[in-house]
Order: sequence, then C-alpha cells, then structure tokens
Amino acid sequence: MSRPRRDPRAARAGQRVTGPHGAGPAVGHPRPRFDLFGTAPNAAAPNAARLAVRRDPRAHWAAARTRGGARPRFDLSLLGQGSLLQTRALEPQIAALEPVPQAPQVRIIDDPAFLVLALADAPGGHLSVQDRQVLGAARLLADAGGGAVLLLTSLLPEDAGAAGADRVADLCGTDPDGRADAVLAAVLALAPRHVLFAETPTGGDLARRVAVRLGEPLFCGAEQISAKSIARPARGGTVERRSTPPRLITLADGAAAPHGRVVHEARPVELTRPAPRDSFILAMEEVPADPATVALGEADFVLSAGHGVSDFEAFRALAVALGATPGASRMVCDAGLMPRAAQVGASGTVLAARCYFALGIAGAPQHLQGIAGCEHVLAVNIDLHAAMVARAGLAIVQDAQLVMPALLKALHEEEGA
Ligand SMILES: Cc1cc2nc3c(=O)[nH]c(=O)nc-3n(C[C@H](O)[C@H](O)[C@H](O)COP(=O)(O)OP(=O)(O)OC[C@H]3O[C@@H](n4cnc5c(N)ncnc54)[C@H](O)[C@@H]3O)c2cc1C
Repeated sequence: MSRPRRDPRAARAGQRVTGPHGAGPAVGHPRPRFDLFGTAPNAAAPNAARLAVRRDPRAHWAAARTRGGARPRFDLSLLGQGSLLQTRALEPQIAALEPVPQAPQVRIIDDPAFLVLALADAPGGHLSVQDRQVLGAARLLADAGGGAVLLLTSLLPEDAGAAGADRVADLCGTDPDGRADAVLAAVLALAPRHVLFAETPTGGDLARRVAVRLGEPLFCGAEQISAKSIARPARGGTVERRSTPPRLITLADGAAAPHGRVVHEARPVELTRPAPRDSFILAMEEVPADPATVALGEADFVLSAGHGVSDFEAFRALAVALGATPGASRMVCDAGLMPRAAQVGASGTVLAARCYFALGIAGAPQHLQGIAGCEHVLAVNIDLHAAMVARAGLAIVQDAQLVMPALLKALHEEEGA
C-alpha cells in the first residue's frame, strides 16, 4: 500500500495569500505573502494542508511581563500558560501513569527443591550485619529453586523476610552443647544441601561442634561464595583454596552481600526439639558486658565526643544513662579530654557497633573510616553541612551543650514514668 506523497510546492501555494481576484500578490504587497498559521481563507486552495500553530515568543514574554518598575520584570508563573492548560488537560492520564505506592511483594516458595540453612547469632533479637551476609549467601545458594531457612536462638526478628529468609525456626538450647544438638536435629530433619554459619566467636564455635557431631568436613572462613564455587586464603594468604560449596561452611565478614531485593515469606516452622542431655551446666544466662569498661571495638553502642563538646560532665552522664561506651575524636584525645583508648578512627579503633552517636564531630575521613561498619549513625552538630551529618541516618542540628541535658532530662522522665 503506497502512502500519498506530500507535495511541498502545493502546500506552499496553499499558504499563499492571494489578492481579491484570486491571482497575483495580496493587495498593497508587491512581494508574495504566505499565511503560515493557516488563518486566512484561501480561495485558490481551500483544502491545502495547514501548518501547526506556531508560538510567538515575543507575545509569550509580553504576556508574562508585570507592570511598573524601572527594569522589565516577568512573572514566570504566567509563562507557558498554554502548556499549563495542556498539562492540566493531561492530568488524569499523567496520574494513571504515576506509580501508586504498593506494599512490597512477598516471594513465597511453597515447595522448595532443596534447603539451605543459615545460622544467625542475632544478638538481642536483631540480625547483625554478618547475619544478613550469611542470609545473603544462603539466598545465593538457594536461588536455583531452593529455600533459605533462618535458624536462631533468640526472638524471631521482624525483618527476617526482608533479609531473605523463606522459613524461620527457633532453636532451643542456650548453652553451646544444647544449641549444637538442636542444629544437628534440624540438619537430620530437613536434610539441607548447605548449612552456613558466620565465622564469629558464637557462630564459629557452633559450626565446629556441629561438624564434629555430623563427622563432616567444615569449610572455614570462606571469603568468596557463589552457587558454584567457594574460596578462602590458605598457607598464610600465599595461595587460595577453592572448591565447590560443601555442606558445612563458615563465612568470614564481608564474604557475601546482604540480600536486598525481594522480600521473602519468613514462614515460621516448628522443629522437633532434641531431648536435653545430661550436662554439668545447671543454669546459664548471658550477662551483658559493662558498657563503661568493654573494649571499644566490641561495643554495641558508642557515644562519641568531638571538638564541639565542651561539657564533658554532661557527656559522661549521658553515656551512663544511655548505656553506651564513650568514644572520642582524635582532636579530643589530643587535647587530653578523653583517654587515647577512646579514639575512634583509622588511627584509633575501628568500630563494629550497631549504633554510633556522634556529638560535635565534623566527620573527617579518618574518623569516618572508623565507623564504616556501624549500622546506625546519629549526629548532633551545629553545621548542617558537616560530613558526619551527611553520614548520619538521623541528625540534630543544634548545640551539643543543649542537646545533652535535654536528652538526659527525657531519659530521667522516661525512667520515672
Ligand atoms: C594521619 C591522620 C590520622 C588521623 N586519624 C584520626 C582518627 O583516627 N580519628 C579521628 O577522629 N581523627 C583522626 N585524624 C584527625 C582528623 O583529620 C580530624 O582532624 C579530627 O577527626 C577532627 O575532630 P573533630 O571532628 O572532633 O573536630 P573539628 O574538625 O574541629 O570539628 C568539630 C565539629 O563540631 C561542630 N561543633 C562545633 N561546636 C559545636 C556545638 N556547640 N555543638 C555541636 N556541634 C558543634 C562543628 O560544626 C564541627 O563539625 C587524623 C588525622 C591525620 C592527619
């Protein structure tokens, strides 16, 4: 099928403004004139194609010009009133195109082809960064039709599904032997393809106990993991040991990225509890470390003072009230206001805290290196543009000397209530 071709000469002739007798130039004009906007009636070519109406920029600006004033001033809101009207007319269509906020979709795997167990330390009922990495690695191994099962001994965390767990199960047993028996029972009941532990004091110990009970080899401290291969340095880091992922694996910090895309179901499952074995341990409970004396590198919550803090009495009282370990920037330690052991940063202590609260600290690169692994950062600073404010998840732009007593008062009121 051929498309009729447009004849430019005919189109041009159709735009020509003719005289009253239908030929020759328009009256009073020696040269031929054309009606580009197609407004004038044309007897010679009444059906000639009309061009789109062109915008006259001078008229456009003139319409937006405000009255008075020595210099010309323009009300930009009046500019493009035509296009504004068009936009208004299109509003329903635009609204239909805009994404409507929806609850995140949950991926449900009803009948997984195989299972991958992920053991989490979950201190205080919260998944730590390394727990999330272990779950991320479990997802990597399970994504070929399998399911990831999160096993832990604490309360089931709310964000287990977002961290990638298809199933969650509570392991009974608080002492290391009871916990190892519970994992062994879970492994025998679920017959997983892989069991992943974090290479932490708790996770590493549990992995070794489970490996001995199962009589199976354990791949310790994997630094790289994928569905097909796993690797770790050997012989003092001179060679790399690589193999296909075995059943029992412990993962070094940073071996895998936490899962971050689709929310999984995190369906709770019941596991049969092993019969408690006769133990010489009669009772066991976790005694939280004293935040005032715990090593800075092992502290969970650090309250740190920078050059912007002058009231150190209020700072120490706040650290006690919050149950935080006190830290400081190098400036403060150099000035002798805090001990050198409290220095946070590249040339001080690199933290693994879940929460870091910085008071009057600028956030120099050397200081930020020390808090790179902290999950939550809070900052108080009078400078909105301080690097620490940019790093913080929550910042208060205010004098630290005002914020500290206000926080203390709020804490005391809460305690009293
Ligand atoms: C080789 C090398 C290694 C280093 N290693 C480290 C290290 O390990 N750790 C470290 O910390 N530093 C280190 N530094 C020093 C670092 O570069 C910074 O100088 C230091 O961190 C600055 O400390 P500060 O943020 O407390 O002080 P400042 O840079 O003086 O910042 C003070 C901040 O407090 C704010 N402020 C002021 N008054 C108030 C107020 N009333 N209320 C609230 N906020 C207020 C200001 O806006 C400012 O942001 C190192 C430097 C070098 C060269």
